[in-house]
Amino acid sequence: MKIVVLKFGGTSVGTIKKIKRVAKIIIDYKKKNYKVIVVSSAMSGVTNELIKKSFEISNGFSESEHDVLVSSGEQVACSLIAGRLIHDGYESRSWLSWQIPILTKGKYKNSRINQINKGNIIKYLKKGGIPVVTGFQGLNDENRITTIGRGGSDASAIMLAKFFKAERCIIYTDVEGVYTTDPNKLKNAKKIKTISYEEMLEMASLGAKVMQPVSIQDARLNRIDIEVRSSFSKKSGTLITKRSNIINNKIVTGISSTQNDSKVSLIGVRDKPGVAAAIFKPLSKNLINVDMVVQNISANGKETDLTFTIKTDDLNKTKKIIQQNKTINYRKLLFEKGVSKISVIGVGMITTPGVTFRMFQSLANEKINIKVISTSEIKISVLIDKKNTQKALIALHKEFKLDKKK
Ligand code: ADP
Ligand code: ASP
Ligand code: MG
Repeated sequence: MKIVVLKFGGTSVGTIKKIKRVAKIIIDYKKKNYKVIVVSSAMSGVTNELIKKSFEISNGFSESEHDVLVSSGEQVACSLIAGRLIHDGYESRSWLSWQIPILTKGKYKNSRINQINKGNIIKYLKKGGIPVVTGFQGLNDENRITTIGRGGSDASAIMLAKFFKAERCIIYTDVEGVYTTDPNKLKNAKKIKTISYEEMLEMASLGAKVMQPVSIQDARLNRIDIEVRSSFSKKSGTLITKRSNIINNKIVTGISSTQNDSKVSLIGVRDKPGVAAAIFKPLSKNLINVDMVVQNISANGKETDLTFTIKTDDLNKTKKIIQQNKTINYRKLLFEKGVSKISVIGVGMITTPGVTFRMFQSLANEKINIKVISTSEIKISVLIDKKNTQKALIALHKEFKLDKKK
């Protein structure tokens, strides 16, 4: 069976008019004799609205009810798509994740898909039907609805492609593909033709919302090629694939940036074994995601300063946890809101020296101060004032010649 998985994001199904257009795209594949499995997210803005409602009911809203509530937007979108396909003369129906079922493991809000039962869908495809499957949702072994993390419909599509051995997995969104940096932030951003899983994973984890990071891990593990393209244009998109499929002479492939980060510094903590662990243990217990961490070299061998970054949403909770932590001593506790992490990413860095210097020099030329640095084999991240984000993006995009056509 020649199967294609087509995933539509919230931005592609945001209005009735857009859903009608999506139906046309699906029908085009059907006409090309593909067996089409459709995956949809909720209409844009719906998931956020549902989350807001959960806070209004209770600030300790039950996690299992959270997943039932916030995954309901997908049901609406899938039913509307199926309804339009039926209107256009095609056999179609919506499939909620529990009806297939799509099975997940792990905690509410952040489960992972580990099994998809194929029988029902295969029968339906053979009959000529077009199944429209809810993204983002799953079912756990207690028979309860789960969700797989924000932006999770991307992972739903990739796991469906894996289990159904699809020939193609296409992610339809509101931009033409993966760009060198967010095209909505930088006009000069260029579409990338092909990008490796590793680079895409870094870009997504470091702020490129176009793909959910977990979905890229799933694709890499299962060697699933992903095409990212626009539901509003016929232009070719971006292929996310394994490194050996790519010929690329660029050192840096893309630049990502984050918003809403905060910096926390503990000044004058004791410089002895176990101190960092004592600071981070209660944060991790409270599910606070600590990102960049630096510890200064101690000048006198007794005291040091420790700095780390978190999401600004977690700032108040973090403050409280540190202030109530009786196992640590420090002289001063400092917080800074309004910082942003800018990262340059590219496998070309492994073999090309001097990228770090070029990055720092071009920020220095713009008089942008670097607060924290962290690196991996294929990325360099720096923390800067959020107000300088745009200036930094422009400078780095130019420095690494990403403005030039690929
Ligand atoms: P969907 O509703 O299709 O899931 P998302 O809003 O999750 O869409 O992702 C698409 C958005 O990702 C784009 O509108 C764009 O602003 C943003 N984005 C961030 N970084 C990038 C990038 N490097 N390339 C393309 N889009 C990006
Ligand atoms: N609707 C969900 C969200 O907004 C899943 C998705 O968009 O992929 O996070
Ligand atoms: Mg998305």
